[in-house]
Amino acid sequence: MAPFVVTVADLLHRPGAHRREQVSGPLDGRGVIGNSVPRDCEVMVDALLEWVCDGILATGTAVAPWRGECRRCLAPVGGELVVEFRELFEQSPREGESYPLRGDHIDLAPLAREAVLCALPLAPLCADDCAGLCPTCGIDLNNGACTCADTPVDPRWAVLDLLRSDLGPS
Ligand SMILES: [Zn+2]
Ligand SMILES: [Zn+2]
Repeated sequence: MAPFVVTVADLLHRPGAHRREQVSGPLDGRGVIGNSVPRDCEVMVDALLEWVCDGILATGTAVAPWRGECRRCLAPVGGELVVEFRELFEQSPREGESYPLRGDHIDLAPLAREAVLCALPLAPLCADDCAGLCPTCGIDLNNGACTCADTPVDPRWAVLDLLRSDLGPS
């Protein structure tokens, strides 16, 4: 069974009716977040569901693990995302604005997927002061300095230096 499908029969057409729902399970990400949110990891949704405006309003948080690569040194980084949401489920959902209310149930998976996707760090760092990789030799500068800065980056510059000295002071 889809772990994020929730029955809301007890809330339909009852203004003020509300219920808290906690669901968790793996999010099948259609590959969209497959690399960032591990497929086998639990995503947790904690939502207050209430009947509002001919629909179900879901307010709460989604919690998901994520992983990626440090944008400077490519080391694996990861953590936990805690994302707040407030979304409406309607019988006639509006594209990009609300989610479908199907009969007496709603599926929180697309909501959770969207929330997590929007909160994923685009360019994570392993540490704020990550030194990154040397662009010349590729060494991880967090583990120690290389000697690239002390030697000419490109032998052609050395040739230019020689030419300049041949021309003498101008
Ligand atoms: Zn790093
Ligand atoms: Zn280097």
